[in-house]
Amino acid sequence: MPAPKKNARHEPIRRCVACRRAAPKHTLLRFARDPHTRQVQFDPAQRLPGRGAYLCPNPDCFHIARKRKSLARVLKTPVDEAILDAAEAWMRSMQ
Ligand SMILES: [Zn+2]
Repeated sequence: MPAPKKNARHEPIRRCVACRRAAPKHTLLRFARDPHTRQVQFDPAQRLPGRGAYLCPNPDCFHIARKRKSLARVLKTPVDEAILDAAEAWMRSMQ
């Protein structure tokens, strides 16, 4: 029988849309698609309603997300490049 996970502590796990790595939700950057307008916004507080997509706070993942339009694909709506720019700037300001 597998041992219970000691580090689980009910931490929700999400997957990065670029590298597909699973990580605790709070360590990832969240993007939310508004349920009404379908506009995608960067959601640093992870509190906006609507469908979310996640990205590692890692320049490589931003690069992949831009190249493959990963957010637009996952959220099924166009995502403005400025959203990624804003998230990347926020990420740098936190480092
Ligand atoms: Zn990633």
